[in-house]
Amino acid sequence: MDISQLLINWYKTHQRDLPWRNTSDPYKIWLSEIIMQQTRIDQGLAYYHRFIENFPNVEALAKAEEQEVLRLWQGLGYYSRARNLHKSAQIIVSEFNGVFPSEYDSILKLKGIGEYTASAIAAFAFGLPYAVVDGNVYRFLSRYFLIEEPYDSAKGKTIFRETANEILDKQNPGLHNQAIMEFGSLQCKPQNPDCGACPLNNSCLAFAKKKVAVLPYKSGKTKVRKRFFNYFILEDAAGKILMKKRSEKDVWHNLYDFPLTETDHLVSESDLMNKHIIESTFGIQDFIVKSISPVQIHLLSHQRLHLRFIRISVQNFSNLNPFTSFSQSDIEKLPLPRPVEQYLSSFFDEEGIAHHK
Ligand code: SF4
Repeated sequence: MDISQLLINWYKTHQRDLPWRNTSDPYKIWLSEIIMQQTRIDQGLAYYHRFIENFPNVEALAKAEEQEVLRLWQGLGYYSRARNLHKSAQIIVSEFNGVFPSEYDSILKLKGIGEYTASAIAAFAFGLPYAVVDGNVYRFLSRYFLIEEPYDSAKGKTIFRETANEILDKQNPGLHNQAIMEFGSLQCKPQNPDCGACPLNNSCLAFAKKKVAVLPYKSGKTKVRKRFFNYFILEDAAGKILMKKRSEKDVWHNLYDFPLTETDHLVSESDLMNKHIIESTFGIQDFIVKSISPVQIHLLSHQRLHLRFIRISVQNFSNLNPFTSFSQSDIEKLPLPRPVEQYLSSFFDEEGIAHHK
């Protein structure tokens, strides 16, 4: 029996029942693939259902306001995925009459779709013979065939892609791809896979050579940039808070956050709360610094953010530009970065408690 058949047999008894596996609708498959990148299945499922409920088809997504899409995406991170979904839905409507393109090259040209996602849509929705190569597939292939080339090097990528294509069942590309991904995820797991119970253990080279634990290899580590965000939460007597849409090309593009001073090192509390600096930075006169949070670390893929929240109450705002003042109910409709949302929810909880006293 060939390897693809062994994987498919294993899959038939071990697969998880996931909603996007029971459809050939390219829109739903695309949505699930984008949501599930960098996301755990249990967390991603809730977002998937919410998206399908709000935007049941590509036209509905194309017609939505970007803010609505970002708000629904809130908490998933990597917001460019949501912006690209939205833009690609508009491209499908304007250039393909709302019909999802069915050729690999056209799918690959859509925004936010790389080789992996294009192969997944081509195989799952249209039955085209493209092998998918995600982290689960790299891990399985590197162990089974003892591929010691790092999977993130140019040479490694070619070897893995070619190997994946060689073993692809061209008659059943969708089923084969689901099987190999699920096998990597559930059986050939990153830590302590149960090789003794594996149906492929008598032909697995890493198992024979006792190299399972060290594979797959990855080349150099990516450099992580450290940044220091000092957020000022300026609140007026009516409880309105100043916020701004992040329009610059940076993290959290088009999401809303507070007035911010970014520094290249950790600034002392006394410097942050310096009256003259606050006055000149925000053009405010009579204010009280109410609290300053401890430093929180927020990790992004290549950045380590050190966040601090300085809460200030002001009688009123004289000069708002470039900010806007929002009430709590307005803020609840805005797309927010995760740490800002978390800060605000404890902030409003406190306020709520205060109001009920
Ligand atoms: S024997 Fe172990 S390493 Fe080899 S394919 Fe099976 S689970 Fe993976």
